[in-house]
Amino acid sequence: MKALLLSAEKTLELTDVPEPELAQDAVLIRVAACGICGSDVHGYDGSTGRRIPPLVMGHEAAGVVERVGSAVDGVSPGDRVTFDSTVYCGECDYCRSGRVNLCDNRQVLGVSCGEYRRHGAFAEYVSAPARILYKLPESFPFEHAALIEAVSVAVHAVELAPPQPGQTAVVVGAGMIGLLIVQALRAEGCDQVVAIDVDDDRLKLAKRFGATHAFNAKTADAAAAVRELTGGAGADLALEAVGMTETVRSAVDCVRKGATVVLVGNLSPDIELPLQSVVTREIRVQGSCASAGEYPKSIELMASGAIDVAPLISAVSPLERGPEWFDRLYRREPGLMKVVLTP
Ligand SMILES: [Zn+2]
Ligand SMILES: [Zn+2]
Repeated sequence: MKALLLSAEKTLELTDVPEPELAQDAVLIRVAACGICGSDVHGYDGSTGRRIPPLVMGHEAAGVVERVGSAVDGVSPGDRVTFDSTVYCGECDYCRSGRVNLCDNRQVLGVSCGEYRRHGAFAEYVSAPARILYKLPESFPFEHAALIEAVSVAVHAVELAPPQPGQTAVVVGAGMIGLLIVQALRAEGCDQVVAIDVDDDRLKLAKRFGATHAFNAKTADAAAAVRELTGGAGADLALEAVGMTETVRSAVDCVRKGATVVLVGNLSPDIELPLQSVVTREIRVQGSCASAGEYPKSIELMASGAIDVAPLISAVSPLERGPEWFDRLYRREPGLMKVVLTP
């Protein structure tokens, strides 16, 4: 089959590879769309150690079931499906308690890291265990399905807060995940959603997606503005989608006493935390990683239009042009959000 193979660091080639083998509990999917994830772009130069060549990357995908393994029930050829990017084992304590994102035996499709190599979906076919599959509504566009992973990350983070209707929430960082968090907060009934970023174009998008207020941290005192919007108290919750000292500080500064700050971004592995402010105001700092069963809810929110991903798709392009798109994303071409490849 045709596949986009990472044959060496920063070298992608369209080539022929053997079709994936079909395990008893797995499903072979003819890939219709697969998104290029930031982790693919960051990893394909070898810097993260999680894309060791040779590898077919790609874990944000959707397509049509071609064949099913002998032990698979409830899925048939012709079904339109997507799948969780995390291949969880389904058997460890975390999986059994529903926290599949923390699975002890977690693997990710399209990743090779020394411990395992699992080919992904920048190819005609990909195989995935049936337990991580989700069916897509008939009219759901495959290109949009490539963003379900990102939506599920946002929905999971919001559910960890979680907001009550009528509350005021702050979102620090209006990149892809931040913009989806803005929409998820509105869907949960937050009255005021305040977006903070340093890029006016992103802030404009945040407003288009339902942010009631947007502040550029370069030119405005966002924390003071949030206090003014909340009668001096501060926001009820904040979600941080960058992961640097300044942005985490901004999230902590914006919330009221006793509030929750959910940390999603982790650009820097270490940051300085305004400890005294967190301790004396009893702020709950909550980490959030990937998602744990939020795929059906994410699909529903997208199908109903409550979360709109179309404006986040910069390009839908044939698999052949993958090398060029990886290069453009790697060089951080301004304005590019999600690029979706279609095998
Ligand atoms: Zn991803
Ligand atoms: Zn597990």
